[in-house]
Amino acid sequence: MRLVDTHCHVGFKAYAEDADAVIERAIQDQVTMVTVGTQQTTSKAAATLANKYGPVYASIGLHPTHTIAHGFNDTQELDFKPKQEVFHATAYEAILQTSKKIVAIGETGLDYYRLPPESEKAMKRLQWEATTAQFAFAKAHDLPVIIHCRDAHADMVSVIKEQGGRGVIHCFTGTYEEAKRYVEMGWMISFSGIATFAKEVGEVAGKLPLDSLVIETDAPYLTPPPFRGKRNEPLYVKYVAESIAHRRGMSVEAFAEATTRNAIKLFRLPL
Ligand SMILES: [Zn+2]
Ligand SMILES: [Zn+2]
Repeated sequence: MRLVDTHCHVGFKAYAEDADAVIERAIQDQVTMVTVGTQQTTSKAAATLANKYGPVYASIGLHPTHTIAHGFNDTQELDFKPKQEVFHATAYEAILQTSKKIVAIGETGLDYYRLPPESEKAMKRLQWEATTAQFAFAKAHDLPVIIHCRDAHADMVSVIKEQGGRGVIHCFTGTYEEAKRYVEMGWMISFSGIATFAKEVGEVAGKLPLDSLVIETDAPYLTPPPFRGKRNEPLYVKYVAESIAHRRGMSVEAFAEATTRNAIKLFRLPL
């Protein structure tokens, strides 16, 4: 059974000690991975891993929480405090030249969760600027966009309507109506381990058209049962597949094959 983990971060600090073993385990289990950058450093790391392993592909981009000075600082991601970054096309252009296996731009998008009220407007503006710059960059290179969107679906839909493009809404946690709007615009929806333990999210994954679905781990985060609470890894994408397949009343093999084909189409993977 082959699977594609369409969104993981095996280039993050969480795997500093054992990235090779983690990737090898996934490859042994027929998992192809897209490892995703969140700023220049992690985007470079993603490209490096893609060059090292056949079944690893990379996405490069600037995450919305790294567009702001006091953004989320995660010790699993980096071993230094991230600085505020602006999306510089020339810098990402240079990263793009380092690998033929960069298959998407992102993660980019809008994250309105826990914005400080005193600077909310300015921060939303910075995220919007970084997002639209990455949509233009993706278009120029004919690549899909990986969207990160939290508490901001109405604004995200406006950006897509304005900018066009194609891609995927990763780690979807919105409503069925919100998902449907993206699907109607031709975008794909990716579900993570959240779909296995949050009933409402699982129900959305159970109802959407099969040809709009892909799956992911978002590792090292969002570990599905039976390993919930531990560090996540791409090998566990099968638990996301099992849970959604069960909900849809289909075999995990058939669901795996359908979502793998969708991922191949989305990222134009040579599989
Ligand atoms: Zn994300
Ligand atoms: Zn991510």
